[in-house]
Amino acid sequence: MTIKEYFASRKQEIRDSLFSLEVKPHFVVVQVNDDPASNAYVKGKLKDSAELGITAELIKLPESTSEEKLLSLIKKLNKNQEIDGFIVQMPLPRHIDQQKIKLAISPEKDVDGFHPLSSLNPCTPQGIINYLHHEGIVLQSKNALVIGRSEIVGKPMAKLLLAENCNVTTVHSKTLREDMERYVANADIIVVAIGRQGFLDESFTYKKDAIIVDVGISRDENGLHGDAVPNLPVGLQTPVPGGVGLLTRLALMENLIKIYERNHN
Ligand code: NAP
Repeated sequence: MTIKEYFASRKQEIRDSLFSLEVKPHFVVVQVNDDPASNAYVKGKLKDSAELGITAELIKLPESTSEEKLLSLIKKLNKNQEIDGFIVQMPLPRHIDQQKIKLAISPEKDVDGFHPLSSLNPCTPQGIINYLHHEGIVLQSKNALVIGRSEIVGKPMAKLLLAENCNVTTVHSKTLREDMERYVANADIIVVAIGRQGFLDESFTYKKDAIIVDVGISRDENGLHGDAVPNLPVGLQTPVPGGVGLLTRLALMENLIKIYERNHN
């Protein structure tokens, strides 16, 4: 099943499961800028919510909003019993400490799963694992390579693959090219999340049945591009666009529903 088909069918399942609920899950998105990329991500999240019958609202603040004001809004949202969960859309303006904001969101309401005490996982890695499971891909004992070590993608991805009993290697910008080539050639599953358009290309050797999960998003006048060039000689490669972005959106809705179920059971 393609990711687009999986996205549509999973959404239908979620819509059906929420249909008969009297009190719908209540989701809030806080946005502190007006940049086109954030606008597009937020629009997608609100559209998904509306299609699933989730009550969603956007609190859009100007870029000049102070850290103090944002923290005080988060405090109010943490306390508001009518709201199941919320997110603060990243990135934030430079004068606001992202880490401080992530830690201020109550783990009970943290739909993004960024808080270290949250019982939920960050949406991109969780969405990827869900899709690999759905496709019946056996993860146990496979050699998994994670390229990138960010807090929101690379590190949690490595942790989740380890929990699936993969042999996990993480590489980064300081990894030597010769080592990168060796790790890529030996990998059964490669998750690439670095934001470097076409980094994985034909100059590398791949296992012929390898799986490449392309998280990267780079934008130019021709649209969106992944960290891997399309159509590499592997078993499965996720597209950009229409790939991991959709899996992330699904995992976000699933995280919200988990919080809702915890609150209503
Ligand atoms: P990030 O915080 O900028 O981290 C990038 C990571 O890539 C860092 O660990 C960096 O290594 C590594 N890196 C950079 N250049 C490299 C190179 N040439 N070789 C090897 N490693 C290199 O980025 P992020 O937030 O993880 O996001 C990564 C990409 O995924 C971005 O394009 C972002 O837009 C995209 N993304 C997509 C989704 C989605 O839903 N599809 C979700 C989140 C992110 P160092 O640690 O050594 O600096």
